[in-house]
Amino acid sequence: MNVQELLNRFREVAACPRAQMENYLKSGKKVVLTAPVYTPEEIIHSMGAVPFGAWGADIELNESKKYFPAFICSIMQSLLEIGIKGGYRGASAIVIPSLCDSLKVIGQNWKYAVPSIPFIPMTYPQNRKPDFGVAFTKAGYERVISDLGKATGLTFDDAALGSSIEVYNAHNAAMRELVGVLAAHPEVTNAQRSDIFKSAFFMLKEEHTELVRALIDALGAAEAGPAKTPIMTTGIIADAAGLTGILDDCGLQIVCDDVAAESRQYATDTPAEGETNLDRLALKFRNMDNCSVLYDQEKNRCKKIAADAKAAGAKGVLVILTKFCDPEEFDYPLIKKACDAEGIPVTVIEVDRQMVNYEQARTAIETFRDIL
Ligand code: SF4
Repeated sequence: MNVQELLNRFREVAACPRAQMENYLKSGKKVVLTAPVYTPEEIIHSMGAVPFGAWGADIELNESKKYFPAFICSIMQSLLEIGIKGGYRGASAIVIPSLCDSLKVIGQNWKYAVPSIPFIPMTYPQNRKPDFGVAFTKAGYERVISDLGKATGLTFDDAALGSSIEVYNAHNAAMRELVGVLAAHPEVTNAQRSDIFKSAFFMLKEEHTELVRALIDALGAAEAGPAKTPIMTTGIIADAAGLTGILDDCGLQIVCDDVAAESRQYATDTPAEGETNLDRLALKFRNMDNCSVLYDQEKNRCKKIAADAKAAGAKGVLVILTKFCDPEEFDYPLIKKACDAEGIPVTVIEVDRQMVNYEQARTAIETFRDIL
């Protein structure tokens, strides 16, 4: 496939996850939904099921409002809305981690609102670094394995987990490499870049890695398009067509990102150390850093954003703040401070999953572009 054909394929998957899920179900695979963030997909994959990203969607919210107050983030609201309306029918279970207050409450609502899809909690420790934190993480994974067995009838095998870890580490590496390759190819639009990341949620990682590797090769042989203004993005999600379209209209190019649904999740590989493969996976969580939902007294993430922007040659940092996301809101002043210290302009726009009109964001982004 050439570059355009590959980009079209990513678009097709990102635009219609339901079709992708139907295909897996028809092929006899079990599908397990994975809510944000850091759901242990490797475990699900190793048991022979398809981990399927469930980060909500840009839809109108009605039914979920019976369960949530208006001030909970729209990722959680739309996730529940899709569940209630049957958009995830056929899934064997949903695994939801506990890394923010919104995630802590959605499971209880899910149990009553979507009883046909069992809720499996993954409770992570706040203190993930000490040995007792690693043991706590491992115990959480064991609980997930037990619940997955009951929900799917599939069994766990530590050697199979080792193979799945290799698949996921290879995908992480491909995604990290892709970011650099895309930065050198401004002709790939921000909307197309978003499709590549989004499609990863709805494909088996080995299939997605194959496409990403093919794109890296195809772009390597292609001539780079005319330069645009390089920026860095940070936030939880940045996949709304209205938003990426404005960035493209403004001649801005995302050259690196700290978006949870994009590069942030691919920063840490599962290490080689560890007695069993499940121990290795618990150590992966211990090693993770630089994320608003991971406890860090020093808030090193904020300084890292400024350093990454500088290293990638970004002329500014666009903070895409998901409305009512407390962990991200708390970090914003520190991101601004760190970028100010490096002389990197920062602007913030608020987004949610119900926006139909992005004109206020357009004005802010156009003004930002003009000062870069
Ligand atoms: S981290 Fe933020 S965006 Fe993600 S579920 Fe929690 S509140 Fe919502």
